[in-house]
Amino acid sequence: MIDCDVAIVGAGPAGCAAARECTRKGLTTVIVEKKKIPRHKACSGILAPASINFLSEHFGDVPQDVLAVPSHVNAMRMHFPGGHRGDIPIHGLMIRRDRLDAWLCKASRAEILDETKMQSFTEGTDGVDLLCIKSNGKRLEVHSRILIAADGGASRMVKQIDPQLTAKLTWYVALQETYACRCHLELGFFHFFAFPEISPYPSAYIKDDLLVMEVVVRVEDKATRAMARFKEYLWKRIGIEQARLVRRLGCRVTYAAPRGLFCFGTERILVSGEASGLLNLFGEGISSALASGRIAGRVSFNSIHQGVSPGRLYRQEIEAEKRKTISTFNYKTLLFREGNAFNFKKGLHAMTCKERLIFSRNLLKWLLAVKG
Ligand SMILES: Cc1cc2nc3c(=O)[nH]c(=O)nc-3n(C[C@H](O)[C@H](O)[C@H](O)COP(=O)(O)OP(=O)(O)OC[C@H]3O[C@@H](n4cnc5c(N)ncnc54)[C@H](O)[C@@H]3O)c2cc1C
Repeated sequence: MIDCDVAIVGAGPAGCAAARECTRKGLTTVIVEKKKIPRHKACSGILAPASINFLSEHFGDVPQDVLAVPSHVNAMRMHFPGGHRGDIPIHGLMIRRDRLDAWLCKASRAEILDETKMQSFTEGTDGVDLLCIKSNGKRLEVHSRILIAADGGASRMVKQIDPQLTAKLTWYVALQETYACRCHLELGFFHFFAFPEISPYPSAYIKDDLLVMEVVVRVEDKATRAMARFKEYLWKRIGIEQARLVRRLGCRVTYAAPRGLFCFGTERILVSGEASGLLNLFGEGISSALASGRIAGRVSFNSIHQGVSPGRLYRQEIEAEKRKTISTFNYKTLLFREGNAFNFKKGLHAMTCKERLIFSRNLLKWLLAVKG
């Protein structure tokens, strides 16, 4: 049995940012992670400026071995049917997700219990009891004064806390395949293909000399079929004949923000990161995971020291982050304001009038098709 101030479920950016804040303030902190660290996670690994700034302020410079090759992504290159395209500046860093999270874990200075799955939890008046199962089948009990749920998009904890909310959400499956091959896809870009007949969000890019392809489909559709359609289109276009599959990863994803379907937890359970519904437009979620994790850590400390309700304090303090995520889905803000992760304003400005018109028409057509 482990007794601690704060237990955290999930060793992604949200869990690690929460842990870092807790340990910095002297709280005994344990992270429970079901996978062995380092672990892969379906993610393009683009750090938006907000994530880069957060990491440099709270964790230090991103280590060299976390950076991929190339280490910078200059733009999202949007491809449309008919051969039109347009570049939307990103100014992000391209990272190796397994190494980023392993670095964050170590830097958090929390006790890391990896290969340990949270099986169930019970909330009491003085804390939360967790029952975990280790990969060797052994049971482990953890008691904490506060529990931070940072268990990612298809959160098992949120499903138990608010099953009705989980049932209301529209679920997608993301499939990512990585190939070793020779191909002619331009480096330094995140290529987005606005071809709804393939999938709502097909994308591809080169990282560490490998071709990474991603599709996202509604949960009732087959992601493997969408990937086959994407491969048939892309491989012909960029001249790939033979490719070796290196890795296939998948996960469930939902966009809670446009409908305001967030879950921030209960009295002693604080839900942070993607588990809470904080996922921005185009699936950018590392920045909000880091920010909300830190808020959960800060609230844990303040509530323990001031003897106030952690749940109520968290719901107050997370409000700004929630509003920030919702605002990324506001198309007026997206197109006309600078400072977004995807700088549409700058991208549109760099186009000629004719290009801008074609781009906007194509973007609208794609948006309408995806919204169905
Ligand atoms: C295809 C794809 C591409 C993406 N690309 C980007 C991108 O380029 N940039 C960006 O900013 N965001 C991107 N995202 C989103 C980003 O990956 C997530 O928003 C981010 O990882 C959320 O962080 P988190 O800490 O909340 O959860 P996660 O990173 O998902 O971490 C949750 C952790 O909890 C663990 N866990 C789950 N259940 C249990 C359990 N029962 N017991 C113990 N541990 C458990 C998991 O193993 C996992 O390690 C992408 C997402 C997808 C699907």
